[in-house]
Amino acid sequence: MNQLSDRLNSLSPSATLAMSQKSNELKAQGIDVINLSVGEPDFNTPEHIKEAAKKAIDDNFSRYSPVPGYPGLRNAIVEKLKNENNLEYTAAQISCANGAKQSVCNVILVLVNPGDEVIVPAPFWVSYPEMVKLAEGTPVIVSAGIEQDFKITPAQLEAAITPKTKALILCSPSNPTGSVYSKEELAGLAEVLERHPQVVVIADEIYEHINYIGKHESIAQFPAMKERTVIVNGVSKAYAMTGWRIGFIAGPEWIVKAVNKLQGQYTSGPCSVSQKAAEAAYTGTQAPVEEMRKAFARRRDLIVSLAKEVPGFEVNVPEGAFYLFPKCDSFFGKSAGERTIADSDDLALYLLEEAHVACVGGSSFGAPDCIRMSYATSDENIVKAISRIKEALAKLK
Ligand code: PMP
Ligand code: GLU
Repeated sequence: MNQLSDRLNSLSPSATLAMSQKSNELKAQGIDVINLSVGEPDFNTPEHIKEAAKKAIDDNFSRYSPVPGYPGLRNAIVEKLKNENNLEYTAAQISCANGAKQSVCNVILVLVNPGDEVIVPAPFWVSYPEMVKLAEGTPVIVSAGIEQDFKITPAQLEAAITPKTKALILCSPSNPTGSVYSKEELAGLAEVLERHPQVVVIADEIYEHINYIGKHESIAQFPAMKERTVIVNGVSKAYAMTGWRIGFIAGPEWIVKAVNKLQGQYTSGPCSVSQKAAEAAYTGTQAPVEEMRKAFARRRDLIVSLAKEVPGFEVNVPEGAFYLFPKCDSFFGKSAGERTIADSDDLALYLLEEAHVACVGGSSFGAPDCIRMSYATSDENIVKAISRIKEALAKLK
């Protein structure tokens, strides 16, 4: 019996979460798997944030919060946006959710009608097109290869816009490529968008603080864009708080109000204790953020230098986030024993079984010629993982 909705049946499972689960299962069987599949910081949440959560429990923050989040947290986000991004918002323009994942999905669900188009530059984070499909919209994929540093050009954007285009999802720094759009590149995209006032930009800035080239640039800085940009961000990556599940949007009030209405019927405000922890993250010392960023930068240098030595890989130099996205199509059609590698998903499976290293094949990110490796792990694991990968790939003839 299959009584599931067409909506659900059209959905693919999350490849990042699936690969991570597979890696954990092998680990549970006693196999020494190095997990480069899931994208989450390997650090613990900073102490002062954990203390704030403990205090919140003792202070009985145990009841429903307002749907968009406590005013204290929203005001802290307003201050963050002012101080770090030079952007002015009111607390009424902020809505918190159960992670940036829900924030992105909320915005898509309130904007997209069946048949509406949403432009998704590829490589993309696995969930974007699936969320668009959930809203019965059509993801319009615009591909940018390694030769253009995985970033779309204004001409590509212009060509993809139709009267049905409702939104563009822009992720910078990017998961899965680590590419970062410069201010000039964002200005080029903004200039195109100015000619198409019906298009809302969903700017996923969850990797804002994991940036190796300097200041974060948001497309919302351009006055003509601010009123139709929804910034998505949260505490998961910057503060090593993936399990706490707090994300937020900052955007025009008509969208924020709609998101609050949706969330009020659907999930209510996010976890009260986590909100108090997130408030402490935004208002407390930012020293741990910089410490973690420095560690990620060192690991980026390490994995790039090692991966460049792997014959057959073409390696980009990521400028942010914690992913390497090498092009690996030179291995397609090669074999080891019984196994032939048809695509990057096959290659990921081969590396898991042969090298005991978990990566994610590129097809779920809209880039089947690449493979994703998360370097949010120790230097030792990075060295061991790339050495095992190199050895396993050398067996493919
Ligand atoms: N956007 C991107 C690009 C991500 O990589 C992630 C991490 N899974 C998210 C959003 C969601 O983050 P959160 O843990 O806050 O839901
Ligand atoms: N964003 C992370 C990743 O891409 C976490 C997993 C997920 O939510 O997809 O691996």
